[in-house]
Formats: sequence, structure tokens, C-alpha cells
Amino acid sequence: MSDVDLIVVGAGPTGRALASRSGVAGLRVILVDPNPDDAWTATYGMYADDAPSWLDASVVASRSATFTVFTPHRRVVDRGYLVLDPEPFRQSLSLENVEVIAERAGVVSATTVTLRDGTVLTARHVVDARGTAAVADESLPRQTAFGVFSAPAEPDETVLMDWRAAGISALDPASFSYRINTARGRLSQETCLAGRPPIPISELERRVRLRQASTPQAPAGSAGAAATEVVDFPMRVRVRPWRGDGPLRFGAAGGLMNPATGYSVAHSLHAVDVIVAALTADQDPATALWPRSARAVYLLRLIGLAVLLALTPAQLVTFFDAFFALSIRRQRAYLSARDDVWGLLRSMWAVFVRCPTRLKSAVVTASVRGAVDLVRAA
Ligand SMILES: Cc1cc2nc3c(=O)[nH]c(=O)nc-3n(C[C@H](O)[C@H](O)[C@H](O)COP(=O)(O)OP(=O)(O)OC[C@H]3O[C@@H](n4cnc5c(N)ncnc54)[C@H](O)[C@@H]3O)c2cc1C
Repeated sequence: MSDVDLIVVGAGPTGRALASRSGVAGLRVILVDPNPDDAWTATYGMYADDAPSWLDASVVASRSATFTVFTPHRRVVDRGYLVLDPEPFRQSLSLENVEVIAERAGVVSATTVTLRDGTVLTARHVVDARGTAAVADESLPRQTAFGVFSAPAEPDETVLMDWRAAGISALDPASFSYRINTARGRLSQETCLAGRPPIPISELERRVRLRQASTPQAPAGSAGAAATEVVDFPMRVRVRPWRGDGPLRFGAAGGLMNPATGYSVAHSLHAVDVIVAALTADQDPATALWPRSARAVYLLRLIGLAVLLALTPAQLVTFFDAFFALSIRRQRAYLSARDDVWGLLRSMWAVFVRCPTRLKSAVVTASVRGAVDLVRAA
């Protein structure tokens, strides 16, 4: 006998949003997390048109109508970008209609959750949103980044990718600079988009300092060491996250991360409503979340990740130069849409035809290898 409609395991952005929206929709919900009241500190950014309509506007720390990339020449892209203030964002996801259990889950199945103290909870559905922090598989490609917060300074444009070497003599392996305004000041972050192994945090910190040496900025807040941020997560967990008899996996560890970019928060927030709609209509949430089109898009993006992993630093810069020359519609199909297979294929083709011949052959080789790996992992 099920006690509630839904148990959500994990109260990160994905799990808390799902629990909150399910509670608002009238479902009986339990949220399990050892530290559900811990403040969120990670800087969450997203394309403005990816933000769900219900996102509280007051949690947006900065908003820009365009963003800039250097690939290596400067290009302004006419697509808005938002940066959330993490703690107000957490608090905006109200748990008024949710039973919160501050405990670590042990065994998690499709309809039961066994807590570490032995208590067994049952529900019609269990969603596993435990994130990727415990994923220790070193063979997985990872994204790493190191960022420093400083006082806002001019120019303060939103720079999503700056591939210029900026004082770094050898950009190998490749990293780029990401510079945005946040609630904690200006964040200047050096990012390894995807690496196997990724660039170590210590090396990214060195590169941030090198770039800063050419454009010194004051630390955010009072005098003293500037606040910093570290990013280190796998770009995917399972090759086919929709498979398996266990609970529905959701969020960064459940295939909601775009494996070619590392973005997941906006995708998860959008998908929350897909799950809530399925649950309230008494339909299977896994089927609703993973139609064939979404599965195909995910596998194609894994091939995109294989390409990123195979390119040399110089090729990566040329690749992104071709990418950001696409229309916003084409960029969205690559970066954002979860189930637009033809749109994604057209975007991939449009990047490919813009690449020089040598890069084309590297892309084909990496794509074929990526596709073979996917078949082998079936
Ligand atoms: C510094 C930083 C900056 C980032 N910036 C961006 C960005 O700008 N845009 C973007 O899209 N992504 C960004 N990411 C990636 C993104 O943050 C993560 O992918 C996102 O947090 C994933 O959310 P999630 O809810 O799926 O998992 P998590 O945020 O990892 O949450 C998992 C939750 O599960 C809980 N949990 C774990 N084990 C158990 C257990 N056994 N029982 C119960 N609960 C458990 C944890 O306590 C945690 O609360 C960033 C990541 C970092 C680290």
C-alpha cells in the first residue's frame, strides 16, 4: 500500500523543484535529503529562453540581453542569459505542501526508499535526484572549472566563452574563460568543457590568475582573499539513463545534463513539469520524460561530446567559431531542445559544413568512434 504519491530523493535544484511543484499540484510528496536546509552557493546560469515560466523573477541576480564569445574574434550573440542568486532560488521553491525528511537514503527502488535508520517509505513513484557527487568512475568525461569573484568592473558584459590565450603560453589542453555578473560579484572562471581526464583544478586556477594578471580586478567585498568557486562533475553517468527497473532517475545524474555542454539546471526545471503532468494524469512519468525523440537527442549529444573530447585546442576554437555563426534557432536546437531530433541534426550539419576540411575529417572520425562506443554500450 503506497503512503504517498511521490518520494523525491535528493533536494538539489532538481529534486527540490520537483517536490515543490508536485506539492503545489496537490500530490502527496515526501522529499528526502540529509541536509535539506543547507544554503545553495553554486552559481547557476542559463539561457533566458530556457528558464521555466514559473521561475520567480526576484531570484535572478543578473540578466543580459546578449552574450559575447571570443572564438577567437569577438562575436555578440543575440540570446539572453540569466544568472540565479542560488539561496533565494532555493527558498523560492516552497516546500509548504511537502513532507521533508532530513535523512540519507540507502536503498532506493521504484516504489520504496529505505532510510539509513532502517525506516522504509513507500510511494506510487520514487524519483532519484541524488546528483553526481558520489559518482566515482574516473573513466567518465568530466567538466572542471575554477572561478574567482571580484568587484564588478567595466566592461561587464556576459562572456560565455573566451578562447583567447590571454597570457597563457600553451592552451593545451584547452580551456576557456567564462565571465559573468553574479550576486557575489563578477565571476571570472576558467573552464575545461570536457576532459578525460579533465584539466586539474590547480591548473585552471593558475590560468585564472594568469588572465587576471593582464586585467587586475579588486576582490569582491572587503579586502582579503577573493571568494572562489570550484566545478567538477561528470558530463554523463549512464549511456541510456532511461533504462533499468529502479526508480526514475532525474536531474544531473538522470540524463538531464546536456552531455555536450554540462548545463542541466534549466533542462531539469523544465522537465519537472513533464513529470508533474504525468503524475497528476496517472501516467508513467518515465515514458513522459523519455519519448523516443528525447532518447535520440541524448544519444546524438553523446556523439557531440565524443567530438569535443577528440579535438585539439585549435580545432575546438574553430569548431565553436562555426557553432556561434549559426542562427539562434539552430543554436537552441543544439544546446536546449530535448526532443527536436531533426532540429539537432540540422544544427550538427550546419556546424559541420562550416568547418574547414581537416576539421571535418576529425569530426567524422570522432563521430564514428562515438557512435561505435554507443552501440558497444547498448
Ligand atoms: C559550482 C558549480 C556551478 C555550476 N553552474 C552551473 C550552471 O551555471 N548551469 C547549469 O546548468 N549547471 C551548473 N552546474 C551543474 C549543476 O549545478 C548541477 O548539475 C546541479 O546542481 C545538478 O542538480 P541536481 O539537483 O540534479 O543534483 P545536485 O545539485 O547534486 O543535488 C543532489 C542532492 O541529492 C542529495 N543526496 C545525495 N545523496 C543522497 C542520499 N543518499 N539520500 C538523500 N539525498 C541525497 C544531496 O544532498 C543533494 O542535495 C554547476 C555545478 C557546480 C558545482
